Amino acid sequence: MRVHGEIEIKRRVHLPKISQQSARTMLEEDFGGLCGYCGKNGQRLRACFHVDHFVPKALDLDREKDYSNFVWACPKCNQIKSNQWPTGDKTVPFRDSIGFVDPASREFDQHLTRTDSGHIVGRTPLGTQMCQLLNFHLRKTELFWKVEQLRIQMERMREKNRAGLLSPAECQYYVEMDTVLQDILDALYAARE
Ligand SMILES: [Zn+2]
Repeated sequence: MRVHGEIEIKRRVHLPKISQQSARTMLEEDFGGLCGYCGKNGQRLRACFHVDHFVPKALDLDREKDYSNFVWACPKCNQIKSNQWPTGDKTVPFRDSIGFVDPASREFDQHLTRTDSGHIVGRTPLGTQMCQLLNFHLRKTELFWKVEQLRIQMERMREKNRAGLLSPAECQYYVEMDTVLQDILDALYAARE
């Protein structure tokens, strides 16, 4: 299974220099609302997602306003990745089994995958090393995946409800489940996940 499920990340190209703040809406759209690294959906998390610099600013200040260097990232991934850049060379994202693969590239899926239970694991030594750099082995990546699957089902029920296709009992179930889902997301948010 892909880390990003059915969402294909397509970062638009040939943009002039743009600030992180001005790029937020476009970047969120290009990343389908998902964290590029862990695939977390920020839509209902109320988390303030970050604009991550793929090549850290500390290493390449020239790319501070380079849209092709931006990654829509959850606060947790952004904070953990920070200034990590294992190759030490700003022009080389990865070499052999060290470094980072751009989440907006096709290569990302070659190195990282999601198990049936929702955990993110490496498919290659480079992918395994990325999981370690981003602490995926310590984080609840599977929990967010399950919550996201629940959210998608709830969206479908919401549509049915709007179209008047739910029975009164189903409608009540939908309202209760929607509240539970929001409670879970609020708890995760409060726990700074
Ligand atoms: Zn993330």
